[in-house]
Amino acid sequence: MVARHDLTTDPQLLEGLLQARRGTAFFARKLNELSDAELDGDSLLPGWTRRHVAAHIGYNARAIARLVEWAATGVETPMYASTEVRNHEISFGATLSPIALRNLFDHSAVHLNVEWRDLPADAWQHKVKTAQGRIVPAEETVWMRTREVWVHAVDLDNGATFSDIPEPILERLLNDITGAWAARGTDKNLVGRVTSRQQEQAFGDTAAVSPLEISGPLADMACWATGRATAGVTASREGKHVTPVPPAPAWI
Ligand code: ZN
Repeated sequence: MVARHDLTTDPQLLEGLLQARRGTAFFARKLNELSDAELDGDSLLPGWTRRHVAAHIGYNARAIARLVEWAATGVETPMYASTEVRNHEISFGATLSPIALRNLFDHSAVHLNVEWRDLPADAWQHKVKTAQGRIVPAEETVWMRTREVWVHAVDLDNGATFSDIPEPILERLLNDITGAWAARGTDKNLVGRVTSRQQEQAFGDTAAVSPLEISGPLADMACWATGRATAGVTASREGKHVTPVPPAPAWI
């Protein structure tokens, strides 16, 4: 007998699952608004059409479902056999017929959701390995998927913006990215300021003497930090405007 509801009762995890499901529904809406012909159009990602984005999100759900299955069974099943296999899969997916591409997205999203729903409460702490080689508890898969569906919904270039992404997700996203910069030391002489919070939030090389300062509201700062666009963000050094706004350090 298959459960019709999540087996976990952890409130934080249930909230995370809700955000992942909302993001999936949001991506579905932006995808479904596009006609078959419009799928051939460019996405916001260099070299990728909207077909590539849709294929990537479909295969991403399958890859994440493999991690959830790993947590459930203890049998190691990596996200992807290799980076080449992942990239090849996306290029292949982009050539599918529109109906097959849409089915790939729909079915993979349903499958992942079933895997999450049926994962026993204790198995959410079982360790799995991400494509980047990080060892994480299975509950991290919820955030991994959340990030993908929300950000790539914007990449479909069909009217969605970072302002459509819920604030807690933008905050966590910005934390992830700036944490990666700090770990790699790529934020030297760079200070970011989020100006839309009650209390201004700063990150980066806050001890630098004359850093490049990038500031803007949360959604625009997150958009800039992911390497997408610079609208709504200003740059300055020692009080003088810097134009154009320099690109953010690489994220992934
Ligand atoms: Zn992605």
